[in-house]
Amino acid sequence: MNEPCLTSDKRYPGTMRVRRVTQAVSILLLVSMVTELTCVRFSPLRCQVFGLPFDLRLLAVLIPMLVMGIVLASFRYGRVFCSWWCPMHIFLEGIGWTGRQKQPGRGAVTWAGTVLLSALITLAVITCFVPWSMQLSAVREHGWSSTLLMVDTGLFLVFFILFGFVRQRFSLYACPYGLIMRLFKTDTTRVTFYDADAGRCIDCGACDRACPFELDVRQESTGDLCTNCGLCIKTCNGVLGPDKGVISMRQEAEGASASS
Ligand code: SF4
Ligand code: SF4
Repeated sequence: MNEPCLTSDKRYPGTMRVRRVTQAVSILLLVSMVTELTCVRFSPLRCQVFGLPFDLRLLAVLIPMLVMGIVLASFRYGRVFCSWWCPMHIFLEGIGWTGRQKQPGRGAVTWAGTVLLSALITLAVITCFVPWSMQLSAVREHGWSSTLLMVDTGLFLVFFILFGFVRQRFSLYACPYGLIMRLFKTDTTRVTFYDADAGRCIDCGACDRACPFELDVRQESTGDLCTNCGLCIKTCNGVLGPDKGVISMRQEAEGASASS
């Protein structure tokens, strides 16, 4: 039997908590854009983030640093942006929770979430650059032929199709970040590792039902599609007992040597 990956298992609950906090910040950022607390205004030129004034020139430095930070973190930890920040992942986790538990009203909750998130992101994108007062006066002046309203409607439809119909297929096969990360994955990138040799799996299938991407966890978790969200680890520990689960996060080389 292989040695359990204790380091990863011990780190895992704290990692999950930090992941939840970053997901909350991601949604709060969208809400702050809708409420104009985070915005860019052009006349006069100014910017604020969560209500705090921000020098736009700093963005020229901060954005490349942020992108570089995400890429470097992804080399080490895998598709962390997907499972830590991306609204699509948050949405899929949400409907997975309601959907796969086969609760009554599952479809209604899923579609309500689709409409709400599509509207939230549409309004966040528009209101980040155009204040509500300007949007409302444009609608008052031009009615349904208002260009802004058409842009709003078009964006809403794009997000509605994305969240309502494309869903995990976008994250798996079309997301540019996901595609880039596939190219840069190395032997030391962290993966979610299923330890078949541990011999404790009872084939309950709970890990598959927990996966927001509907992966066959025991076959695909070490592949490029997994975002290391850790939900299958949590679920397996729930089935077999704390720290007795057979799924853990490991660096790929470590997982490969353990499985050989
Ligand atoms: S949740 Fe754990 S015990 Fe159940 S099928 Fe998945 S790996 Fe096996
Ligand atoms: S296989 Fe596990 S860690 Fe990977 S995306 Fe699915 S639930 Fe998350």
